[in-house]
Amino acid sequence: MITATSVIEGKEKRGGGNQKRVVDPSNITKTVGNIAFSSKDIVNEAAESARNAQQVWAAKTGAERSQLLYKLAEEINNHAEELAVVASQEMGKPITEMKGEIQRAVQLFKYYAAEGVRPDGETIPSSAPNVLQYAKRVPLGVVTLITPWNFPVAIPVWKIAPALICGNTVIWKPAENASLTASKMMKIFEKAGLPDGVINVIIGKGRDVGQQLMEEAAIDGLSFTGSTEVGKKVAETCSRRNIKCQTEMGGKNPAIVLKDADLSKTAGTIVSGAFRSAGQKCTATSRVIVETEIVEELKKALIEEMKNVKVAPACDPEAFTGPVASEEQYNKVKKYAAMAHKDGNIVVEGALPEEDGYYIPPLIVENIDTNHALWKEETFGPIITLVTASNVEEAVQLCNDTIYGLSASIFTNSVSNAHYFLENAKAGMVRVNQETAGVEYQAPFGGMKSSSSHTREQGQAALDFYSETKTCAINY
Ligand code: NAD
Repeated sequence: MITATSVIEGKEKRGGGNQKRVVDPSNITKTVGNIAFSSKDIVNEAAESARNAQQVWAAKTGAERSQLLYKLAEEINNHAEELAVVASQEMGKPITEMKGEIQRAVQLFKYYAAEGVRPDGETIPSSAPNVLQYAKRVPLGVVTLITPWNFPVAIPVWKIAPALICGNTVIWKPAENASLTASKMMKIFEKAGLPDGVINVIIGKGRDVGQQLMEEAAIDGLSFTGSTEVGKKVAETCSRRNIKCQTEMGGKNPAIVLKDADLSKTAGTIVSGAFRSAGQKCTATSRVIVETEIVEELKKALIEEMKNVKVAPACDPEAFTGPVASEEQYNKVKKYAAMAHKDGNIVVEGALPEEDGYYIPPLIVENIDTNHALWKEETFGPIITLVTASNVEEAVQLCNDTIYGLSASIFTNSVSNAHYFLENAKAGMVRVNQETAGVEYQAPFGGMKSSSSHTREQGQAALDFYSETKTCAINY
């Protein structure tokens, strides 16, 4: 059984804070590991370790850094099976999805490994004779990465990989209920020959070490993914300290269905976008806006699709979706499910498995007012709120009726309706005839409005975040 501990300068650091027993959300009578939380005293140690390692790491050639990233990809791939089991048992994501997430991490390491030998700047013609002028990327220095539990492997890697290839060293603070997975990942990274101090992981609580990291630590950049509530505090604190900061936060993602959509394909795509991972994706579909004329037909198709939604323990290879991740999540999502029963009309509700776990039946609710919490708030659970619109213009207005702007989809066979949506939907990721979730690893990922600090992760955009531009001029 794993005990999660912090790792500073390549050495395990036990304790300083509380201990916690981790239960399997798929079966809460089963213990799957222990967490030895560090107290906030560890933060300075981590910052010193990362600072000491940074000059040596940055002095390596891009090709050398690239080699390490390829090795990290290889070792993650070699240990994919064990890592998937640890993560699924810790936070309840079905094992088949978890394996897919781990392959995404492998792709991300390879993508950024290739960047180590690609051009990292540009030459700019000078107005003066005999002057060579060029701009190149330089690393920020030491970066802190604060990550959530819902993609416990892919989200850390989509920050770690670009941070390392740009020459930064890392202090990584995973979410409390992704601590076992983070520890397992550190063990795999060691096998790849990760130099001491290049990645330091702090197993600790957000309000304790997370807070200390952003308020006090000697760092040069901070990338945060998590709730909008915490993200806004992180952004304010970093702005006060003039630390480069990126925050990726919550979503309330709509799928619009127009009367010219192919409903047989649409219903399955919506159900998958909403209910896989028990709705615990920042890009999960949580609102459906349908043209009034086809609402009954869509409801029928959704009810039919729900027959394929098997809620089961995460280790069941046939699970369509598993439990929610923790007791805290369970209590929170249960409240929203109770509101749906009390204030709306339930279109369909899934069945539950027999195991004693944090299971919530996936449900679709209608007759909900657009001032209601179910329309406004991120439930982060398997709940769809369905409303009607009389045309594409009203549908897009409803799509934008939220403080969030992460992802949005439309289902239509009309090119002009698709373009109207792509132009007018206020979201960072807009998709036609596709799930709101599922943006590919090589494309920019991020949101508008309260979903993001308006930077992007993944792709080339991540390299911009983890580096600064230095403009050089040589008179010869
Ligand atoms: P959370 O905000 O509770 O925690 C995120 C991280 O912040 C954790 O590591 C936590 O320990 C840390 N933290 C908590 N309080 C802190 C504080 N005061 N100071 C510093 N750090 C602190 O979020 P969560 O419950 O782990 O994740 C779910 C949320 O993440 C959802 O809102 C979801 O939409 C969002 N999310 C967004 C994206 C995206 O890319 N936009 C991706 C995944 C998840």
